[in-house]
Amino acid sequence: MSNQGIPENPDLKRLDKDVEVEIFDAIRGPGEGNPVLPARLRPEDSFCFSCHKDIPCWNACCHGADVTLTPMDILGLSRHLGIRLREFLTEYTLPAIWDKANLPVAKLKMSGADGKGPCMFMVEEGCSVYDARPVTCRYYPLGLASVKPKGADHKEDFYFLVKESHCEGHDEDNRQTVSDFRQEQGIDVYDRVNRGWMDIVMKMASWRSLGGPYGKDLSTQVKKMFFMVSTDVDALRTFILETKFLESYEVDAEAVEAIKTDDEVLLSLGFDWMKNVMFNEPTVSLKEPVLREAISKARENMGAT
Ligand code: SF4
Ligand code: SF4
Repeated sequence: MSNQGIPENPDLKRLDKDVEVEIFDAIRGPGEGNPVLPARLRPEDSFCFSCHKDIPCWNACCHGADVTLTPMDILGLSRHLGIRLREFLTEYTLPAIWDKANLPVAKLKMSGADGKGPCMFMVEEGCSVYDARPVTCRYYPLGLASVKPKGADHKEDFYFLVKESHCEGHDEDNRQTVSDFRQEQGIDVYDRVNRGWMDIVMKMASWRSLGGPYGKDLSTQVKKMFFMVSTDVDALRTFILETKFLESYEVDAEAVEAIKTDDEVLLSLGFDWMKNVMFNEPTVSLKEPVLREAISKARENMGAT
């Protein structure tokens, strides 16, 4: 995902009128003019594109790329490199604010004093972490938008094409459907693990014009929690297992066992917890005595007896 250089596209902008949430994902690299093509693509729609080592622009897109790392990217890359999460975060990422949602995120570090040099994983042959490359790199040159029409129960995903002038892959005679492209790029597992995180980011983006959920900016502490959940499963595991979290929230015994070793289950609980903290969604439940105490405190604060 990238938050840089996303242009105001009149056709996509019109979505504002009929949707509750909207997000643009996976536009990688500095924007140039208006590279987002206005057509909405469905999984069965096709487009022409091919990227291969003999293309004249080989590696051009991996310089100064603006790559926001999703939770699954961070897990996958640190596992692939065989290093601890903290080491990965320090060596290869920079903290940033994703301003479309006003949330702290980790971005892939680019080399060069101005961050416009090659990606630290770029080698002459291409991407040295290809099997674990971030989902933004997998999606390129597609973008993802997820919308929830007013009154609808579910969000709908659709795609759009990003056509940057330096990318010659669009001129290649290789027509494929969005669905085939996604499969070839191994995107499904990323979307599955990141879904709860995407829900949060999308919701924050939709609240952005009002200043935050229910018109209030999130506290610094909540933003820090979101950053921990998004970037550091080790810290999240310690937080859940070694603080009063399990005394406060209902988490069944099977899930408690699973989160000791399963990062995906842990992340899923982390996202549910953040949805509860940030938006008051009923995704996790307080235990009865904690709930009673909270209600009693709230009544006291309102002057009730
Ligand atoms: S991770 Fe790989 S594909 Fe992505 S910008 Fe870096 S070198 Fe390019
Ligand atoms: S074709 Fe596009 S994606 Fe492939 S190397 Fe060239 S600029 Fe990058």
